[in-house]
Amino acid sequence: MKEVIIVGSGLGGLSAALRLSSKGYKVKILEKNSTAGGRLNQIKEKGFTFDSGPSFMSMTYEFDNLFKECGVVNPIKLKALDPLYEVYFEGRQEPYRIWKDLDKLAGEFGDIEPDFKNKADKYLKRASEFFHDTEDKVVKSNFNGLADYFIKISRVPLKHLPFLRKKLWTLLSETFDSQVVKVIFSLVAFFLGSTPFKTPSIYSLLNYTEFIHNGYWRVEGGMYMIVEEILKILKNRGVEIIYNTEVSDYYDSEGSLKYFLDKKGNHWIADLYIVNADAASFRGMILNRKKYSGTRLDNMDWSLAPFTIYLGVKGKIKSMYHHNYFLGNDFIKYADKIFITSESPSNPYYYVNMPSYHDTECAPEGCENLFILCPVPDLRFKDHWNDREEFADRIIQDLSDRINFNLKDNLIVKKIMSPLEWESEYNLYKGSGLGLSHGMNQIGGFRPSNKDEEFSNLYYVGASTVPGTGLPMVLISSKLATERIIHEH
Ligand SMILES: Cc1cc2nc3c(=O)[nH]c(=O)nc-3n(C[C@H](O)[C@H](O)[C@H](O)COP(=O)(O)OP(=O)(O)OC[C@H]3O[C@@H](n4cnc5c(N)ncnc54)[C@H](O)[C@@H]3O)c2cc1C
Repeated sequence: MKEVIIVGSGLGGLSAALRLSSKGYKVKILEKNSTAGGRLNQIKEKGFTFDSGPSFMSMTYEFDNLFKECGVVNPIKLKALDPLYEVYFEGRQEPYRIWKDLDKLAGEFGDIEPDFKNKADKYLKRASEFFHDTEDKVVKSNFNGLADYFIKISRVPLKHLPFLRKKLWTLLSETFDSQVVKVIFSLVAFFLGSTPFKTPSIYSLLNYTEFIHNGYWRVEGGMYMIVEEILKILKNRGVEIIYNTEVSDYYDSEGSLKYFLDKKGNHWIADLYIVNADAASFRGMILNRKKYSGTRLDNMDWSLAPFTIYLGVKGKIKSMYHHNYFLGNDFIKYADKIFITSESPSNPYYYVNMPSYHDTECAPEGCENLFILCPVPDLRFKDHWNDREEFADRIIQDLSDRINFNLKDNLIVKKIMSPLEWESEYNLYKGSGLGLSHGMNQIGGFRPSNKDEEFSNLYYVGASTVPGTGLPMVLISSKLATERIIHEH
């Protein structure tokens, strides 16, 4: 029986362990922290249970695929969100309610976007073609080098080529007249940790996934149920997880990896190895690869860093829905600046998730559970967070004013994670929340491969290898990496 060591217990590592244990491999996971899940984690305090990172799921059939392929019934209970979310603009008390049903959404936009339904239908039809013409040929495909990537790309219909170069904002501006509608449709760029001004328009396929294809879903009992359910199955299969164990060095010989060393000096030996830590920075910082040296890593495009706030609040907030965006009125100026400044945004745009809207277990009775996420520059641009309290208070005050609820006077729990904590907790390069960005030079054959360049027995899963970031993509990454392993070993 072949033995496999996986470094990291994020969703990438856990799902790879599930797939390989189903095929008879003996799997062990080494995790730096004291809990599993990586960014998909949980914080418990004073009766509140917060999901620390992801708050919703799309392309949920990737979970069905994972469990089916591993011979178990999908234990995760999902509920579709409709409305998908609400968007607040500065100076407008009422939010826009973003319905999945486009006729209802057209009603929401009233006369700000005449003929919305027709325009949206046309836009989403094209986005659906982007999705279906690339899903199997590119997204769910392994590449053996750049030549193979170009061969696979050449099977995508040529008519899509111009959309690789065009930016999402440009395509939206050609489609819609209203700034409000353009901004709302462009929010998907933030799911890639970027802005619509940098994101290729091909990613309008994410609008297709939200409105037509599969929508957005919440997990009953909270997002961390995903981790807990997978852990139960892994335990039954004898997969061991060794916590508080951070890999810091390695030894290789004759083109293969012989063992990993952890910070306490222990040796970890197996036949095969999978790294679930960031596929680019692990190569640079642990394997000392020149292509991923400090300077080269700094020159890559990284997704925005998260500044997150977890609030346990006394009282019920009647005016707010489960998923909400709070935006200002100078989107272009704001989104252009936040990437590269060394200061905290003075008028922050942020996302608020209130899981207690649906789930009574995550907060004590009569209380609300709030998760606030504000995308900020990564640590290359802003390397200190001495102003973290002040910045969090600014957001809390702004939110209080906009939902007409005094949060400050009703706080039971307030916890903050700045990019510094995101970096140190999960080894996220410079605190970048979603890993490498998804520009044309960092996807497909250009993204760090899931197979190591030098060691024949080393593979990668997770957000910074193929196909990309987000929970569904990470599930696909474990499928791609384990398919390679099964084929090659
Ligand atoms: C704030 C936030 C909100 C998000 N919201 C969503 C959302 O709503 N929906 C969605 O689909 N996606 C969301 N994402 C993205 C999603 O969380 C990630 O794409 C996904 O969880 C990444 O999983 P992973 O397995 O690649 O990496 P990780 O979760 O980072 O797992 C890697 C693991 O490796 C461990 N590790 C690292 N280095 C070492 C080492 N040297 N030795 C041992 N262990 C090590 C880490 O501790 C970690 O446990 C969000 C991300 C963030 C940060």
